[in-house]
Amino acid sequence: MAAAWAGNFECTACGRKRLIGSEFSKAALERHRRDPTAPLRCVACVEAAAAVERQAAADKQRLATADDAAGAEHVCSACARSLPAAAFNRNQLSKGGEKQRCQTCVADAEQAAAADGAEKYAARLAAARQAMQRAEASGSAAEKVVAASAYSAIEAEKVTGLKPVVLGRGRARGRGGALRGRARAPSA
Ligand SMILES: [Zn+2]
Ligand SMILES: [Zn+2]
Repeated sequence: MAAAWAGNFECTACGRKRLIGSEFSKAALERHRRDPTAPLRCVACVEAAAAVERQAAADKQRLATADDAAGAEHVCSACARSLPAAAFNRNQLSKGGEKQRCQTCVADAEQAAAADGAEKYAARLAAARQAMQRAEASGSAAEKVVAASAYSAIEAEKVTGLKPVVLGRGRARGRGGALRGRARAPSA
């Protein structure tokens, strides 16, 4: 456990720091030794990127086939452009005209949400690191263990936790504000 945050490497993709060598492939470490300024990605990030790439290739293939058959254009509800089916992810088209968004608009929204999520994550990680440093300086043995494992837990979250954060955020924003405003509009 303790070794998980005691290494010297940093993943340039997920931003986790103080990783041990076994978090990386031999080839990645070899490249890093030859060129310390080149990006170094942990095994989890390399695998995640490969999976995304495979999925994208498969999606593209499916869309190209579907598009050949259909040939129709669809209007994006976000940018209002009329675009061929290939410009949309299949799950977006299944939402229908009111909600479907083109790949560009979806990517933009995801990028904004991911940037926001990454920012909040960095703040939590920094707070946990400070708590750990405080515990290490003046805490009891139990406090040190608690602070260190809290920090490790947040650090581990990064690899798998981004998507749920993004989804939860979108849903939470839909409720509240607008509805409440209408309900309390002055009647006189
Ligand atoms: Zn990584
Ligand atoms: Zn669009």
